[in-house]
Amino acid sequence: MTELPLAAPLPAISEVPPSLLAAWLAARGEPAFRTAQVLGGAHRPSAAGFADLSDLPGSLRGALAEAFRFSTIRTSHVLVTDDRLTAKAVHELGDGQRIESVLMRAPGSGGRRPRTTICISSQAGCAVGCPFCATGQAGFARQLTPGEIVDQVLHWHRSPWQALGADWSPTQREGHYNIVFMGMGEPLANADRVFRAIELLNDRRRLGVGARHITVSTSGVVPGIDRMVDELAQVNLAISLHAPDDELRDRLVPINRKWPIAAVLEAGRRFARVTRRRVSLEYVLIDNLNDAPGQAARLAALARGWLSHVNLIPLNPTPGSAWSGTPAAGVRAFAEVVRNAGVPVTVRDTRGREIEAACGQLHAQLAGRPLPSRPDLVPA
Ligand code: SAH
Ligand code: SF4
Repeated sequence: MTELPLAAPLPAISEVPPSLLAAWLAARGEPAFRTAQVLGGAHRPSAAGFADLSDLPGSLRGALAEAFRFSTIRTSHVLVTDDRLTAKAVHELGDGQRIESVLMRAPGSGGRRPRTTICISSQAGCAVGCPFCATGQAGFARQLTPGEIVDQVLHWHRSPWQALGADWSPTQREGHYNIVFMGMGEPLANADRVFRAIELLNDRRRLGVGARHITVSTSGVVPGIDRMVDELAQVNLAISLHAPDDELRDRLVPINRKWPIAAVLEAGRRFARVTRRRVSLEYVLIDNLNDAPGQAARLAALARGWLSHVNLIPLNPTPGSAWSGTPAAGVRAFAEVVRNAGVPVTVRDTRGREIEAACGQLHAQLAGRPLPSRPDLVPA
């Protein structure tokens, strides 16, 4: 008996082009308004499957379930901490790869609205190989599809938060959220699919997340930054700088050997000039490596005079490296030097450390272990 080739996976509802869905519906004799109805229903927080789209005829729900995948990811773990302000999910893909996404809530204070940020992955693994990053240490597995990227956002849009308490929903209770490409992977090394995912996220028939609420973080893929200027002018850009000179950056962010600091910052300045959007320069502070006052002064010199700001992140140590984060006093001193040079500077909140929220760490910890079949809520 000859073995049949494996069937291609069904198209995912999160990435199916509306025109294709419309043609599929038309072929079934459905009225034109069904396209918007199906897309709207599938992106509602309360929907856990096509069966929940109760405004559709039962036979159509069944047919949709046979023709499309409701999700491309299966969530195996959800870990919660910080008084339920931070949660991290491990998602398993169709081929068994695992990726991560994180949800962080900042409560509103002093008249400011509460803010929810969803941090998503763009690749399974990463080929850039930054030695301080758990994803980089694990290497590259494969690109994520647009559907796999969008489905991470949809995960937080849908059910797991319900188990965490009625006030958890980022969408229903707080109105909007921000999305940052700061999970696993280098988004601009997967630019076509990431750009398509952003288009899908923007689509008003789907989630309708405004481009201004989306940030792409890159280790410095210059052609990708150039494409952002031309194709995604409303999306925010963060550049992971981490060192003020090429010698150190060659080690910390190895892609620097291809696109050195001058080239990356030239692309960043063009982005700022054309889009009039402030570029965030990310700088992980590693004890006794890149945190000396002289390095702060050199960083400030690179950031001064154009629309940028510096975001300092104390290193979250990974098991695969001997480095540790700069202690709080050192972080304050470093920030002071940058600020005194006239450059806006913030220190990133390291919330989520308890649940290994930095880049790929949980993934590394779980590698090779069997996962439970149902989402596992693990309070910290
Ligand atoms: N590949 C992209 C986006 C994903 S990494 C990039 O590098 O920008 C998102 C951010 O997390 C980057 O700024 C990265 O340098 C940072 N990061 C990675 N490992 C970290 C760690 N162990 N501690 C603190 N920040 C880390
Ligand atoms: Fe890749 Fe970013 Fe990690 Fe570097 S920091 S290895 S670019 S995910």
